[in-house]
This record gives sequence, structure tokens and C-alpha cells, in this order.
Amino acid sequence: MKESTVNAIRKIAELTGPKCASCPGGDQYRCCDKMFCSTVKIPSGIHFDKPNVNGIPYMGEKGCVLPPEYRPMCSTFVCGGHLDDRKFRREYDRLMDKVRKEFPEYPDSAHLRKTCQGAFAPDWWGHNRKLLIPASRE
Ligand code: SF4
Ligand code: SF4
Repeated sequence: MKESTVNAIRKIAELTGPKCASCPGGDQYRCCDKMFCSTVKIPSGIHFDKPNVNGIPYMGEKGCVLPPEYRPMCSTFVCGGHLDDRKFRREYDRLMDKVRKEFPEYPDSAHLRKTCQGAFAPDWWGHNRKLLIPASRE
């Protein structure tokens, strides 16, 4: 992964963290699912234990055990309701433009805004899985 992508992903994770910490669904980890743990991109030679809390492989007692850049699909996701915050969305778009140079299949904020309103992210992910995870990357 390019350094500019890594940096952008880390910044997005910092930006979205507080949004999810005040999740309207009442659980900042509600969008985690073993299906998404299977999309991680851990470089070869690096090992992380899988705590498997609640049956979600990389979920530990205090959230995901992976750094943001090793789980780019998770780190860059935010549900559409938060995109009404204009300042947040401007910065999110700026960073996602960089990420999407390497991962053009990831949705932009206009798509997220339209398809994922409020705290219904797991449904959204399920419906859009094929869009987000081309067969070649599964
Ligand atoms: S539903 Fe939205 S706010 Fe809640 S954890 Fe998922 S992306 Fe974050
Ligand atoms: S954030 Fe971590 S625990 Fe949650 S789905 Fe992604 S890889 Fe799994």
C-alpha cells in the first residue's frame, strides 16, 4: 500500500472514530462482522492474534486489534447520517480522494449518503458487498 494511502486511512480513522463512538445505534462496534475481518490486508510476515470477541475474529475487548491501515475497508467506512456534518464531510472527501486512487471500488461520500442512512450499516454492507469486494480480492 502506498504511503499516501496509509496516511489518509489513518487520518480518516481519527476522523470517524468520534462519530462511531457516538453511534446512533448505541454501539460503536456494531458495524464489525467476521465478513469484514476477511477483507483485512495484513502484510506477509506480520501476525496478529485473533481475540474473537463475540465471534468476530479481530475484535478484542476494547475494539479492533488491527491498526487502521491493515483494515482499510473498515477504517474508511462511515454511515451516511454523519455526512450531514459539512466540515466532517469536506475533510472525509479530501482524504477519500487519496484512498480511492488505490481502492477505486470504495464508495465515495455521495454513495454512502444515499445508501446508508443512520445506524443501519450492517444491512448496507451486506447489500453492497459485491460492489466493495470484487471476486479477485476475496
Ligand atoms: S452505524 Fe454508523 S456510527 Fe454506528 S458504528 Fe456504524 S458507521 Fe459508526
Ligand atoms: S474493524 Fe476490525 S474487528 Fe471490525 S470488522 Fe474490521 S477487521 Fe474485523
